[in-house]
Amino acid sequence: MNARFAPELLNLTPADIAKMSPAETQAALSLALDLARSLWNRLSEDSRTSSRPPSSDSPFRREERRGEGEPAASASETTSPDNPGEPKAQAKPTSGKRPGKPPGAKGFWRSQPIVASAEVEHAPLKCEACGQTLEPECERKKTSAHISLELTRGDMSLKIEATKHVYFAARCRCGHETVEQPGVGMSSHVEGRRRDLKATERCLVGPMLCAFIAALALRFRLSRRKIQEFLDDWLGLELGTASIDRCVHEFGLASEPVVEKLIEEVRAAEIVNLDETPWYQRGALMWMWVAVTATVVVFRIGSRRKEELVALIGEAFLGWLVTDGYAAYRDHPRRQRCLAHLIRKALALAEGLYGDGDGDGFGRDLVRDLRRLIERVRDGESDSKAVNRLLASIKWSCQRNLYEIEPKIRQLAHEILNDWDAVIAFVYDPRLPPTNNDAERALRHAVIARRISYGTRTGEGSRFYAAGLSVIETCRKRGLDPWAYARDLIAAARTGATAPAIPVAA
Ligand SMILES: [Zn+2]
Repeated sequence: MNARFAPELLNLTPADIAKMSPAETQAALSLALDLARSLWNRLSEDSRTSSRPPSSDSPFRREERRGEGEPAASASETTSPDNPGEPKAQAKPTSGKRPGKPPGAKGFWRSQPIVASAEVEHAPLKCEACGQTLEPECERKKTSAHISLELTRGDMSLKIEATKHVYFAARCRCGHETVEQPGVGMSSHVEGRRRDLKATERCLVGPMLCAFIAALALRFRLSRRKIQEFLDDWLGLELGTASIDRCVHEFGLASEPVVEKLIEEVRAAEIVNLDETPWYQRGALMWMWVAVTATVVVFRIGSRRKEELVALIGEAFLGWLVTDGYAAYRDHPRRQRCLAHLIRKALALAEGLYGDGDGDGFGRDLVRDLRRLIERVRDGESDSKAVNRLLASIKWSCQRNLYEIEPKIRQLAHEILNDWDAVIAFVYDPRLPPTNNDAERALRHAVIARRISYGTRTGEGSRFYAAGLSVIETCRKRGLDPWAYARDLIAAARTGATAPAIPVAA
Protein backbone atom coordinates (compact mmCIF):
# COMPACT_ATOMS: atom_id res chain seq x y z
CA MET A 1 0.00 0.00 0.00
CA ASN A 2 1.14 3.56 0.48
CA ALA A 3 4.66 3.80 1.86
CA ARG A 4 4.11 7.37 3.08
CA PHE A 5 2.09 6.14 6.05
CA ALA A 6 3.67 5.42 9.44
CA PRO A 7 5.22 1.94 9.29
CA GLU A 8 3.96 0.98 12.77
CA LEU A 9 0.38 1.55 11.67
CA LEU A 10 0.89 0.27 8.19
CA ASN A 11 -0.99 -2.98 8.32
CA LEU A 12 -3.57 -2.15 10.93
CA THR A 13 -7.13 -2.71 9.65
CA PRO A 14 -10.42 -2.14 11.49
CA ALA A 15 -10.68 -5.94 11.90
CA ASP A 16 -7.26 -6.01 13.61
CA ILE A 17 -8.28 -3.26 16.00
CA ALA A 18 -11.43 -5.16 16.96
CA LYS A 19 -9.28 -8.11 18.01
CA MET A 20 -6.86 -6.03 20.15
CA SER A 21 -6.67 -6.06 23.94
CA PRO A 22 -7.37 -2.72 25.70
CA ALA A 23 -3.63 -2.23 26.30
CA GLU A 24 -2.81 -2.82 22.64
CA THR A 25 -5.58 -0.48 21.54
CA GLN A 26 -4.21 2.20 23.86
CA ALA A 27 -0.70 1.77 22.47
CA ALA A 28 -1.95 2.01 18.90
CA LEU A 29 -4.07 5.02 19.74
CA SER A 30 -1.23 6.95 21.33
CA LEU A 31 0.93 6.10 18.31
CA ALA A 32 -1.78 7.45 16.02
CA LEU A 33 -2.13 10.59 18.16
CA ASP A 34 1.62 11.23 18.02
CA LEU A 35 1.54 10.84 14.30
CA ALA A 36 -1.45 13.15 13.94
CA ARG A 37 0.24 15.77 16.14
CA SER A 38 3.50 15.72 14.25
CA LEU A 39 1.75 15.88 10.88
CA TRP A 40 -0.44 18.72 12.07
CA ASN A 41 2.57 20.61 13.35
CA ARG A 42 4.41 20.14 10.11
CA LEU A 43 1.37 21.29 8.17
CA SER A 44 1.07 24.49 10.18
CA GLU A 45 4.75 25.37 10.00
CA ASP A 46 5.67 28.47 8.11
CA SER A 47 8.58 30.88 7.87
CA ARG A 48 7.99 32.13 11.41
CA THR A 49 8.07 28.75 13.09
CA SER A 50 10.57 26.81 11.00
CA SER A 51 13.53 27.27 8.72
CA ARG A 52 11.29 27.41 5.67
CA PRO A 53 11.72 30.48 3.48
CA PRO A 54 8.92 33.06 3.61
CA SER A 55 8.29 32.43 -0.08
CA SER A 56 6.90 29.01 0.87
CA ASP A 57 4.17 30.56 3.02
CA SER A 58 0.64 30.38 1.71
CA PRO A 59 -0.24 33.77 0.23
CA PHE A 60 -3.58 33.66 2.02
CA ARG A 61 -1.94 32.97 5.36
CA ARG A 62 0.34 35.95 4.78
CA GLU A 63 -2.70 38.10 4.11
CA GLU A 64 -4.42 36.88 7.30
CA ARG A 65 -1.32 37.74 9.24
CA ARG A 66 -1.32 41.25 7.84
CA GLY A 67 -4.98 41.56 8.78
CA GLU A 68 -4.28 40.49 12.36
CA GLY A 69 -2.22 43.63 12.73
CA GLU A 70 0.99 41.75 13.27
CA PRO A 71 4.03 43.40 11.83
CA ALA A 72 3.94 42.78 8.10
CA ALA A 73 7.65 42.24 8.25
CA SER A 74 8.75 39.01 9.79
CA ALA A 75 12.46 38.89 10.39
CA SER A 76 13.18 37.39 7.01
CA GLU A 77 10.80 39.63 5.15
CA THR A 78 12.65 42.88 5.75
CA THR A 79 13.64 43.27 2.16
CA SER A 80 12.71 46.22 0.08
CA PRO A 81 10.27 45.03 -2.62
CA ASP A 82 11.92 46.82 -5.50
CA ASN A 83 15.39 46.24 -4.17
CA PRO A 84 15.77 42.53 -3.54
CA GLY A 85 18.53 41.57 -1.22
CA GLU A 86 18.78 44.93 0.50
CA PRO A 87 17.86 45.14 4.15
CA LYS A 88 15.23 47.78 4.54
CA ALA A 89 14.76 49.97 7.55
CA GLN A 90 10.95 49.95 7.41
CA ALA A 91 9.02 47.22 5.68
CA LYS A 92 5.68 48.11 7.23
CA PRO A 93 3.41 49.76 4.71
CA THR A 94 2.03 51.92 7.51
CA SER A 95 5.38 53.44 8.44
CA GLY A 96 4.61 56.53 6.37
CA LYS A 97 8.26 56.84 5.36
CA ARG A 98 8.73 57.63 1.71
CA PRO A 99 11.09 55.42 -0.22
CA GLY A 100 14.35 57.03 -1.16
CA LYS A 101 16.61 59.63 0.36
CA PRO A 102 15.04 61.88 3.02
CA PRO A 103 15.37 65.62 2.30
CA GLY A 104 18.71 66.95 3.47
CA ALA A 105 20.44 63.57 3.53
CA LYS A 106 23.78 63.16 1.82
CA GLY A 107 23.29 62.65 -1.89
CA PHE A 108 25.17 60.61 -4.43
CA TRP A 109 28.11 62.12 -6.29
CA ARG A 110 30.46 60.47 -8.66
CA SER A 111 34.06 60.49 -7.50
CA GLN A 112 35.43 61.16 -11.01
CA PRO A 113 34.09 63.80 -13.39
CA ILE A 114 32.83 62.39 -16.70
CA VAL A 115 35.10 63.17 -19.63
CA ALA A 116 33.24 63.37 -22.94
CA SER A 117 35.04 61.66 -25.81
CA ALA A 118 32.93 63.29 -28.51
CA GLU A 119 30.72 66.28 -29.05
CA VAL A 120 27.52 66.37 -31.08
CA GLU A 121 26.01 69.65 -32.18
CA HIS A 122 22.27 70.09 -32.50
CA ALA A 123 21.39 73.23 -34.45
CA PRO A 124 17.97 74.13 -35.85
CA LEU A 125 17.70 73.40 -39.56
CA LYS A 126 14.62 75.42 -40.43
CA CYS A 127 13.22 78.69 -39.23
CA GLU A 128 10.12 78.20 -37.09
CA ALA A 129 8.59 81.47 -38.33
CA CYS A 130 9.19 81.56 -42.09
CA GLY A 131 10.23 77.98 -42.82
CA GLN A 132 13.46 78.96 -44.56
CA THR A 133 16.47 76.68 -44.35
CA LEU A 134 18.95 77.99 -41.80
CA GLU A 135 22.44 78.02 -43.30
CA PRO A 136 25.41 77.07 -41.10
CA GLU A 137 26.77 80.59 -41.62
CA CYS A 138 23.82 82.25 -39.90
CA GLU A 139 24.26 83.80 -36.50
CA ARG A 140 23.94 81.20 -33.77
CA LYS A 141 24.69 80.70 -30.10
CA LYS A 142 24.87 77.81 -27.63
CA THR A 143 21.77 77.52 -25.48
CA SER A 144 22.24 74.28 -23.59
CA ALA A 145 24.46 71.23 -23.28
CA HIS A 146 24.36 67.91 -21.50
CA ILE A 147 26.44 64.79 -21.32
CA SER A 148 24.99 61.44 -22.27
CA LEU A 149 26.46 58.03 -21.50
CA GLU A 150 25.71 55.45 -24.14
CA LEU A 151 26.43 51.76 -24.35
CA THR A 152 27.76 50.26 -27.56
CA ARG A 153 27.41 46.53 -28.10
CA GLY A 154 30.15 45.21 -30.32
CA ASP A 155 31.06 41.64 -31.16
CA MET A 156 31.95 40.25 -27.76
CA SER A 157 32.37 43.70 -26.26
CA LEU A 158 30.50 46.26 -24.25
CA LYS A 159 31.66 49.85 -24.20
CA ILE A 160 30.28 52.95 -22.53
CA GLU A 161 31.15 56.31 -24.01
CA ALA A 162 30.30 59.81 -22.90
CA THR A 163 29.11 62.25 -25.55
CA LYS A 164 28.52 65.95 -25.06
CA HIS A 165 25.35 67.17 -26.75
CA VAL A 166 25.32 70.90 -27.49
CA TYR A 167 22.15 72.70 -28.53
CA PHE A 168 22.07 75.96 -30.51
CA ALA A 169 19.72 78.82 -31.23
CA ALA A 170 20.01 80.32 -34.72
CA ARG A 171 18.74 83.66 -36.04
CA CYS A 172 17.11 83.65 -39.45
CA ARG A 173 17.35 86.49 -41.99
CA CYS A 174 13.72 87.21 -41.13
CA GLY A 175 14.86 88.08 -37.63
CA HIS A 176 13.27 85.14 -35.83
CA GLU A 177 15.40 83.10 -33.45
CA THR A 178 14.76 79.32 -33.52
CA VAL A 179 15.98 77.33 -30.52
CA GLU A 180 16.88 73.66 -30.87
CA GLN A 181 16.11 71.66 -27.72
CA PRO A 182 16.39 68.07 -26.50
CA GLY A 183 13.20 66.13 -27.16
CA VAL A 184 10.62 65.58 -24.42
CA GLY A 185 8.17 62.71 -24.62
CA MET A 186 6.02 60.52 -22.41
CA SER A 187 5.54 61.16 -18.73
CA SER A 188 3.86 59.52 -15.77
CA HIS A 189 2.22 61.49 -13.00
CA VAL A 190 1.60 60.05 -9.55
CA GLU A 191 -0.38 62.04 -6.97
CA GLY A 192 1.87 63.25 -4.18
CA ARG A 193 5.15 62.51 -5.91
CA ARG A 194 7.62 65.35 -5.91
CA ARG A 195 8.62 64.96 -9.54
CA ASP A 196 6.91 63.28 -12.50
CA LEU A 197 8.74 60.58 -14.39
CA LYS A 198 9.48 62.16 -17.75
CA ALA A 199 11.17 60.59 -20.76
CA THR A 200 13.49 63.15 -22.31
CA GLU A 201 16.60 63.28 -24.45
CA ARG A 202 18.20 65.52 -21.84
CA CYS A 203 19.25 62.47 -19.87
CA LEU A 204 22.58 61.22 -18.57
CA VAL A 205 21.73 57.66 -19.58
CA GLY A 206 21.42 56.96 -23.31
CA PRO A 207 18.68 54.66 -24.70
CA MET A 208 20.86 51.55 -25.09
CA LEU A 209 22.38 51.92 -21.62
CA CYS A 210 18.85 52.44 -20.27
CA ALA A 211 17.74 49.23 -22.02
CA PHE A 212 20.79 47.42 -20.58
CA ILE A 213 19.90 48.49 -17.04
CA ALA A 214 16.28 47.44 -17.61
CA ALA A 215 17.60 44.06 -18.81
CA LEU A 216 19.66 43.60 -15.64
CA ALA A 217 16.62 44.41 -13.49
CA LEU A 218 13.77 42.70 -15.35
CA ARG A 219 15.40 39.79 -17.12
CA PHE A 220 18.32 39.06 -14.84
CA ARG A 221 16.41 39.98 -11.66
CA LEU A 222 19.17 42.09 -10.11
CA SER A 223 18.31 44.59 -7.40
CA ARG A 224 19.02 48.29 -8.03
CA ARG A 225 21.91 48.06 -5.58
CA LYS A 226 23.41 45.05 -7.36
CA ILE A 227 23.11 46.78 -10.73
CA GLN A 228 24.97 49.74 -9.28
CA GLU A 229 27.73 47.43 -8.06
CA PHE A 230 27.87 45.60 -11.40
CA LEU A 231 28.17 48.76 -13.50
CA ASP A 232 30.87 50.15 -11.23
CA ASP A 233 32.87 46.92 -10.98
CA TRP A 234 32.71 45.82 -14.61
CA LEU A 235 32.26 48.96 -16.66
CA GLY A 236 33.73 51.60 -14.38
CA LEU A 237 30.42 53.43 -14.47
CA GLU A 238 29.15 55.24 -11.40
CA LEU A 239 25.39 55.68 -11.25
CA GLY A 240 23.12 56.28 -8.27
CA THR A 241 20.37 53.81 -7.45
CA ALA A 242 17.82 56.55 -8.18
CA SER A 243 19.14 56.88 -11.76
CA ILE A 244 19.05 53.11 -12.12
CA ASP A 245 15.49 52.95 -10.80
CA ARG A 246 14.53 55.70 -13.22
CA CYS A 247 15.90 53.70 -16.18
CA VAL A 248 13.88 50.61 -15.26
CA HIS A 249 10.74 52.71 -14.90
CA GLU A 250 11.40 54.59 -18.12
CA PHE A 251 11.50 51.30 -20.01
CA GLY A 252 8.19 50.30 -18.40
CA LEU A 253 6.65 53.66 -19.29
CA ALA A 254 7.82 53.33 -22.90
CA SER A 255 6.43 49.78 -23.04
CA GLU A 256 2.86 50.65 -22.00
CA PRO A 257 1.54 51.82 -25.41
CA VAL A 258 3.10 48.74 -27.03
CA VAL A 259 1.28 46.50 -24.55
CA GLU A 260 -2.03 48.13 -25.51
CA LYS A 261 -1.39 46.93 -29.07
CA LEU A 262 -0.37 43.48 -27.81
CA ILE A 263 -3.64 43.20 -25.86
CA GLU A 264 -5.54 43.86 -29.09
CA GLU A 265 -3.62 40.98 -30.66
CA VAL A 266 -4.49 38.72 -27.71
CA ARG A 267 -8.18 39.56 -28.15
CA ALA A 268 -8.05 38.61 -31.81
CA ALA A 269 -6.12 35.37 -31.22
CA GLU A 270 -7.61 31.95 -31.90
CA ILE A 271 -6.06 30.30 -28.85
CA VAL A 272 -5.02 32.03 -25.61
CA ASN A 273 -3.29 30.28 -22.71
CA LEU A 274 -4.11 31.96 -19.39
CA ASP A 275 -2.74 31.54 -15.91
CA GLU A 276 -2.34 33.52 -12.71
CA THR A 277 -0.03 33.48 -9.69
CA PRO A 278 0.12 35.43 -6.41
CA TRP A 279 2.02 38.72 -6.48
CA TYR A 280 2.72 41.32 -3.81
CA GLN A 281 2.44 45.04 -4.12
CA ARG A 282 3.87 46.76 -1.05
CA GLY A 283 3.20 43.51 0.81
CA ALA A 284 -0.48 43.29 -0.16
CA LEU A 285 -1.68 40.20 -2.00
CA MET A 286 -2.28 40.79 -5.71
CA TRP A 287 -2.27 38.48 -8.71
CA MET A 288 -0.09 38.40 -11.74
CA TRP A 289 -1.97 37.21 -14.81
CA VAL A 290 -0.45 36.11 -18.07
CA ALA A 291 -2.00 35.61 -21.49
CA VAL A 292 0.07 33.71 -24.03
CA THR A 293 -0.73 33.29 -27.72
CA ALA A 294 1.43 31.97 -30.55
CA THR A 295 3.07 35.40 -30.93
CA VAL A 296 2.24 37.46 -27.83
CA VAL A 297 2.91 37.31 -24.09
CA VAL A 298 1.08 39.87 -21.93
CA PHE A 299 1.38 40.18 -18.15
CA ARG A 300 -0.95 42.09 -15.87
CA ILE A 301 -0.83 42.70 -12.12
CA GLY A 302 -4.19 43.20 -10.44
CA SER A 303 -6.84 41.51 -8.32
CA ARG A 304 -7.94 37.94 -8.90
CA ARG A 305 -11.36 39.06 -10.01
CA LYS A 306 -12.93 38.50 -13.38
CA GLU A 307 -12.43 42.16 -14.36
CA GLU A 308 -8.73 41.52 -14.74
CA LEU A 309 -9.45 38.66 -17.08
CA VAL A 310 -11.78 40.88 -19.10
CA ALA A 311 -9.06 43.53 -19.23
CA LEU A 312 -6.84 40.98 -20.94
CA ILE A 313 -9.16 39.13 -23.32
CA GLY A 314 -12.02 41.62 -23.57
CA GLU A 315 -15.77 41.13 -23.17
CA ALA A 316 -16.29 39.36 -26.48
CA PHE A 317 -13.41 36.96 -26.87
CA LEU A 318 -14.31 34.44 -29.57
CA GLY A 319 -11.27 32.17 -29.48
CA TRP A 320 -10.29 29.23 -27.31
CA LEU A 321 -8.98 29.60 -23.76
CA VAL A 322 -6.53 27.10 -22.29
CA THR A 323 -6.73 27.37 -18.50
CA ASP A 324 -6.64 25.60 -15.17
CA GLY A 325 -9.87 25.05 -13.23
CA TYR A 326 -10.10 28.55 -11.73
CA ALA A 327 -13.74 29.68 -11.63
CA ALA A 328 -13.18 33.02 -13.42
CA TYR A 329 -12.54 31.09 -16.63
CA ARG A 330 -15.54 28.78 -16.27
CA ASP A 331 -18.24 30.56 -18.21
CA HIS A 332 -16.20 30.90 -21.39
CA PRO A 333 -17.79 28.44 -23.84
CA ARG A 334 -14.67 27.48 -25.82
CA ARG A 335 -12.20 26.24 -23.29
CA GLN A 336 -9.55 23.55 -22.87
CA ARG A 337 -8.80 22.45 -19.30
CA CYS A 338 -5.14 21.92 -18.48
CA LEU A 339 -4.80 18.14 -18.20
CA ALA A 340 -1.47 18.45 -16.38
CA HIS A 341 -3.39 19.87 -13.39
CA LEU A 342 -5.83 16.96 -13.41
CA ILE A 343 -3.01 14.43 -13.75
CA ARG A 344 -1.25 15.95 -10.71
CA LYS A 345 -4.45 15.62 -8.66
CA ALA A 346 -4.92 12.03 -9.83
CA LEU A 347 -1.30 11.26 -8.94
CA ALA A 348 -1.88 12.42 -5.36
CA LEU A 349 -4.77 9.94 -5.15
CA ALA A 350 -2.72 7.18 -6.78
CA GLU A 351 0.01 7.65 -4.20
CA GLY A 352 -2.52 7.08 -1.45
CA LEU A 353 -2.31 10.57 0.02
CA TYR A 354 -6.08 10.60 0.56
CA GLY A 355 -8.63 8.04 1.75
CA ASP A 356 -7.67 4.63 3.08
CA GLY A 357 -6.49 3.28 -0.22
CA ASP A 358 -9.76 3.59 -2.13
CA GLY A 359 -8.29 6.36 -4.24
CA ASP A 360 -5.34 4.29 -5.43
CA GLY A 361 -7.15 2.53 -8.23
CA PHE A 362 -9.15 5.55 -9.39
CA GLY A 363 -6.05 7.78 -9.35
CA ARG A 364 -3.88 5.24 -11.15
CA ASP A 365 -6.48 4.58 -13.86
CA LEU A 366 -7.00 8.28 -14.39
CA VAL A 367 -3.29 9.08 -14.64
CA ARG A 368 -2.77 6.24 -17.11
CA ASP A 369 -5.82 7.05 -19.25
CA LEU A 370 -5.21 10.81 -19.38
CA ARG A 371 -1.56 10.31 -20.37
CA ARG A 372 -2.49 7.79 -23.05
CA LEU A 373 -5.19 10.11 -24.33
CA ILE A 374 -2.64 12.93 -24.73
CA GLU A 375 -0.21 10.62 -26.54
CA ARG A 376 -2.84 9.18 -28.91
CA VAL A 377 -4.20 12.60 -29.84
CA ARG A 378 -0.67 13.92 -30.34
CA ASP A 379 -0.02 11.01 -32.72
CA GLY A 380 -3.06 12.02 -34.74
CA GLU A 381 -5.33 9.15 -33.69
CA SER A 382 -8.22 11.32 -32.50
CA ASP A 383 -10.95 9.36 -34.30
CA SER A 384 -9.53 5.95 -33.48
CA LYS A 385 -11.39 3.31 -31.49
CA ALA A 386 -8.60 3.44 -28.91
CA VAL A 387 -9.29 7.12 -28.19
CA ASN A 388 -13.03 6.47 -27.91
CA ARG A 389 -12.33 3.63 -25.50
CA LEU A 390 -10.09 5.91 -23.40
CA LEU A 391 -12.76 8.62 -23.26
CA ALA A 392 -15.38 6.07 -22.20
CA SER A 393 -13.01 4.64 -19.59
CA ILE A 394 -12.23 8.05 -18.05
CA LYS A 395 -15.92 8.95 -17.94
CA TRP A 396 -16.87 5.61 -16.44
CA SER A 397 -14.29 5.69 -13.66
CA CYS A 398 -15.39 9.22 -12.73
CA GLN A 399 -19.06 8.19 -12.70
CA ARG A 400 -18.24 5.22 -10.49
CA ASN A 401 -16.55 7.49 -7.93
CA LEU A 402 -19.12 10.29 -7.82
CA TYR A 403 -20.49 9.10 -4.43
CA GLU A 404 -17.21 7.93 -2.95
CA ILE A 405 -16.85 8.71 0.77
CA GLU A 406 -13.39 10.27 0.54
CA PRO A 407 -14.03 13.90 -0.53
CA LYS A 408 -10.83 14.30 -2.61
CA ILE A 409 -11.84 11.35 -4.79
CA ARG A 410 -15.44 12.51 -5.13
CA GLN A 411 -14.33 16.05 -5.93
CA LEU A 412 -11.96 15.04 -8.71
CA ALA A 413 -14.64 12.83 -10.29
CA HIS A 414 -17.12 15.74 -10.16
CA GLU A 415 -14.54 18.19 -11.43
CA ILE A 416 -13.87 16.13 -14.53
CA LEU A 417 -17.49 15.29 -15.30
CA ASN A 418 -18.80 18.82 -14.66
CA ASP A 419 -16.22 20.23 -17.04
CA TRP A 420 -16.18 17.28 -19.46
CA ASP A 421 -16.33 19.28 -22.70
CA ALA A 422 -13.39 21.42 -21.63
CA VAL A 423 -11.41 18.37 -20.53
CA ILE A 424 -11.66 16.69 -23.93
CA ALA A 425 -11.87 19.69 -26.31
CA PHE A 426 -8.35 19.03 -27.62
CA VAL A 427 -9.41 15.61 -28.90
CA TYR A 428 -11.65 17.28 -31.49
CA ASP A 429 -9.49 20.31 -32.30
CA PRO A 430 -5.90 19.45 -33.24
CA ARG A 431 -4.76 23.07 -32.65
CA LEU A 432 -5.52 22.95 -28.93
CA PRO A 433 -2.74 22.01 -26.53
CA PRO A 434 -3.84 19.54 -23.81
CA THR A 435 -1.90 21.41 -21.10
CA ASN A 436 -1.33 25.00 -20.06
CA ASN A 437 2.45 24.68 -20.10
CA ASP A 438 3.00 27.80 -22.22
CA ALA A 439 1.38 30.09 -19.68
CA GLU A 440 2.89 28.30 -16.69
CA ARG A 441 6.35 28.62 -18.20
CA ALA A 442 5.81 32.33 -18.85
CA LEU A 443 4.87 32.85 -15.20
CA ARG A 444 7.80 30.91 -13.80
CA HIS A 445 10.21 33.82 -14.40
CA ALA A 446 7.90 36.15 -12.48
CA VAL A 447 7.49 33.62 -9.67
CA ILE A 448 11.26 33.54 -9.16
CA ALA A 449 11.41 37.35 -9.27
CA ARG A 450 8.66 37.47 -6.64
CA ARG A 451 10.61 35.15 -4.36
CA ILE A 452 13.69 37.33 -4.67
CA SER A 453 12.08 40.73 -4.44
CA TYR A 454 8.70 40.28 -2.72
CA GLY A 455 7.00 41.97 -5.63
CA THR A 456 6.59 45.60 -6.50
CA ARG A 457 6.07 48.68 -4.38
CA THR A 458 3.56 50.92 -6.12
CA GLY A 459 0.70 50.68 -8.59
CA GLU A 460 2.86 52.48 -11.13
CA GLY A 461 5.74 50.08 -10.45
CA SER A 462 3.44 47.08 -10.98
CA ARG A 463 2.15 48.50 -14.26
CA PHE A 464 5.64 49.23 -15.52
CA TYR A 465 6.94 45.84 -14.41
CA ALA A 466 4.16 43.98 -16.20
CA ALA A 467 4.51 46.14 -19.33
CA GLY A 468 8.29 45.73 -19.49
CA LEU A 469 8.06 41.95 -19.05
CA SER A 470 5.36 41.76 -21.74
CA VAL A 471 7.59 43.52 -24.27
CA ILE A 472 10.65 41.41 -23.42
CA GLU A 473 8.77 38.10 -23.54
CA THR A 474 6.91 38.99 -26.74
CA CYS A 475 10.22 39.83 -28.45
CA ARG A 476 11.67 36.54 -27.26
CA LYS A 477 8.59 34.68 -28.44
CA ARG A 478 9.04 36.26 -31.88
CA GLY A 479 12.73 35.40 -32.00
CA LEU A 480 13.82 39.06 -31.83
CA ASP A 481 16.55 40.74 -29.80
CA PRO A 482 14.52 42.41 -27.03
CA TRP A 483 17.26 44.90 -26.20
CA ALA A 484 17.77 46.40 -29.65
CA TYR A 485 14.01 46.86 -29.72
CA ALA A 486 14.03 48.32 -26.19
CA ARG A 487 16.62 50.89 -27.25
CA ASP A 488 14.44 52.04 -30.18
CA LEU A 489 11.40 52.08 -27.90
CA ILE A 490 13.10 54.25 -25.27
CA ALA A 491 14.54 56.58 -27.92
CA ALA A 492 11.05 57.04 -29.39
CA ALA A 493 9.49 57.65 -25.96
CA ARG A 494 12.03 60.41 -25.31
CA THR A 495 10.98 62.41 -28.36
CA GLY A 496 7.27 61.68 -28.12
CA ALA A 497 7.39 59.67 -31.34
CA THR A 498 5.01 56.72 -31.83
CA ALA A 499 6.36 53.50 -30.35
CA PRO A 500 7.77 51.18 -33.02
CA ALA A 501 5.77 47.97 -33.50
CA ILE A 502 7.32 44.63 -32.60
CA PRO A 503 7.72 42.90 -35.97
CA VAL A 504 6.33 39.38 -36.40
CA ALA A 505 8.75 37.04 -38.12
CA ALA A 506 7.38 35.87 -41.48
ZN1 LIG B 1 12.76 82.94 -40.75
